[in-house]
Amino acid sequence: MFKLRMLAGRRLAVCALAIFGLNGSVFSQTSKAVHWKIRYQPKQIVNGSPFILRVQTPAKLQSLSATWLNHDVYFSWDASGKYWFGIAGVGLSTAPGAYPLHLSGESANGNKVAFDQQITVRHMKYPNTAVTVDKKFTEPSATELEEIQKDKATKQEVFAQFTPTRAWSGDFQQPVIARISDVFGATRTFNGKVQSTHEGLDFAVPTGTAIAALNRGTVVLARLLFFEGNCVMIDHGQGLLSLYLHLSKIEVKEGDMVSSGQEIGLSGGTGRATGPHLHIAVRWQGVYVNPATLFELKLP
Ligand SMILES: [Zn+2]
Repeated sequence: MFKLRMLAGRRLAVCALAIFGLNGSVFSQTSKAVHWKIRYQPKQIVNGSPFILRVQTPAKLQSLSATWLNHDVYFSWDASGKYWFGIAGVGLSTAPGAYPLHLSGESANGNKVAFDQQITVRHMKYPNTAVTVDKKFTEPSATELEEIQKDKATKQEVFAQFTPTRAWSGDFQQPVIARISDVFGATRTFNGKVQSTHEGLDFAVPTGTAIAALNRGTVVLARLLFFEGNCVMIDHGQGLLSLYLHLSKIEVKEGDMVSSGQEIGLSGGTGRATGPHLHIAVRWQGVYVNPATLFELKLP
């Protein structure tokens, strides 16, 4: 599997690599200079996957960027491993197929380099569950609708900004050690009619359980919302956000820098919840990705 990918990458390297000078001229290149190595985790990328890219370039670059499914991918340089790494994701609604990752960089003397690699997204079938919640959440009153609209604006504001610079470091940690009560991607039927997709991961925890930050980052939201209840959102950089919902108590404030594993609040059942539990979600530049996959990645 991996070997095949590497071979495909090399074939592509011959036709897709271009080195431009500052004046736009194309430099000739030796075959030695065309070895780009692109690796990613997990090995199988599906709709709903977060994934980590590791890129080795033919020559040392001072910067590297990429575009993937109409989003920018941000990279950090790992000096010890001599590779670039960055986080990306695939939305639940992305159809299976091969999509191009467009890489572009700049060497120390200003030469521009570019490389394209196709990455295959496979189809993942997620389960369906039916849930019953209080009527007010499926048939909200006029004042509740007003509250929901206000929350929507607040969330849009938070989601519209993210930090390209990486704050996260090392593996992403579980927010709590507990049984998983509902998986990411499950389609849900509320009270037999309103349909939605579960864009997070639920942990079966009683009210008052300490909840930890998945990784290092800045708290960008820490307040009570209609559906989410007491909610915390953390910006980890490189376009990645983590969300913690239905908390009984929030122990951080907006603007705080939190470390990986730091307690940010206590679990509860506030907002649209059938009972006390923790719902977490991970967003990469506007798309929700599977937190369970994120925990399995081996990260620098
Ligand atoms: Zn949930």
